Amino acid sequence: MFKSFLIKYAEIGIKGRNRYLFEDALVGNIRLMLDALEGKFRVYKTSGRIYVDVESDFDYEETVACLKRVFGIAGICPVLQVEDNGFEELTREVLEYLDKVYPDKNKTFKVQARRARKNYPIDSMEINRKLGGAILEAFPEIKVDVHAPDILLNVEIREMINIYSIIIPGPGGMPVGTAGSAMLLLSGGIDSPVAGYMISKRGVRIDAVYFHAPPYTSERAKQKVVDLAAKVAAYTGPINLKVVNFTDIQLYIYEKCPHDELTIIMRRYMMRIAEHFAKEQGCLGLITGESIGQVASQTMKSLAATNEVCTMPVYRPLIAFDKQDIVDIALRIDTYETSILPYEDCCTIFVAKHPVTKPNLNIIKKSETRLEEKITGLVDEAIRTAENIEIIPG
Ligand code: ATP
Ligand code: MG
Repeated sequence: MFKSFLIKYAEIGIKGRNRYLFEDALVGNIRLMLDALEGKFRVYKTSGRIYVDVESDFDYEETVACLKRVFGIAGICPVLQVEDNGFEELTREVLEYLDKVYPDKNKTFKVQARRARKNYPIDSMEINRKLGGAILEAFPEIKVDVHAPDILLNVEIREMINIYSIIIPGPGGMPVGTAGSAMLLLSGGIDSPVAGYMISKRGVRIDAVYFHAPPYTSERAKQKVVDLAAKVAAYTGPINLKVVNFTDIQLYIYEKCPHDELTIIMRRYMMRIAEHFAKEQGCLGLITGESIGQVASQTMKSLAATNEVCTMPVYRPLIAFDKQDIVDIALRIDTYETSILPYEDCCTIFVAKHPVTKPNLNIIKKSETRLEEKITGLVDEAIRTAENIEIIPG
């Protein structure tokens, strides 16, 4: 029965003079996301409200699922829009609405009318009273509860009249793109896709970089990262993924440096290369899935050692999260199943049996001097040969 959705947004409503920028971005992002569906949708803004009208056959569930992935949406209200054909006709339509949406009338309700158009002949209080009376008369089982009703029936008198009572929660956050962009270090693990999702939710467009080490890491491990990127892109929109061949750099570090420092040194090179691409693509920061104490390379000392090579801010949204909390988000955003596929990533292959957990930055830097002969060339080569993959939402 629904052919329209009223889109509620929360935080972007408080952006003062820049409000229209946020609204326009949200309208644009909704259009982009709905483009992937069958069906013709009209997305538009009018008097501080965003609507999605459906102008063809469509799949209700699929459309709602799609809107639930658009950051910036606080609530999705399927709305019945009717013309103003007088109060009697409105009453009839309201009764029909309730009858269809709530087959079981054993519920409490409250009418909440709003007159955005003051030339409507009856004021809000009167509308509440009259509609309330008609509803009680039509459905004997239904009861009024003005404090905590099961059904809060909104009747908004605008050019058209909006009737709605269902608010499906949206993802919240801010429209992607309104906060600039950042470069996600995306591995095949559980954490980094969640980290990308979280930062993007604050309005940040995402690009990504993945380091692989063929033939030590398989084609399937790479495909897994591509699949994960597509799952993240279902929320963030298209992602430009760089796939960097890291093998020669890793082998060279392995040959020249103490093995217990491998992971830290490797991660420092990942950060350096990621930052190169971030600058090239106009990103304002890096994103990782790191969390204090999760593994040896994520003690505070290790994080400090890794961080030291970066000149850009590094966003680590999971820094204080327990693993289970990260897993819960991964399950909710549907990246978990892919993340736990058992393909090796490059960090696990060259990992030492007893990696340092309290790296001394001076010692690490000294070890890195052993790489002087070839490392610049190898890094340049890795950057030059990186593969570029345009990830579309999956
Ligand atoms: P994840 O589940 O995200 O892989 P993790 O618990 O396995 O995290 P690490 O392997 O120490 O942790 O990696 C920490 C962070 O470094 C990752 O969250 C990711 O942002 C980045 N990272 C690690 N390996 C790679 C890789 N091969 N390519 C790109 N980024 C990586
Ligand atoms: Mg990992």
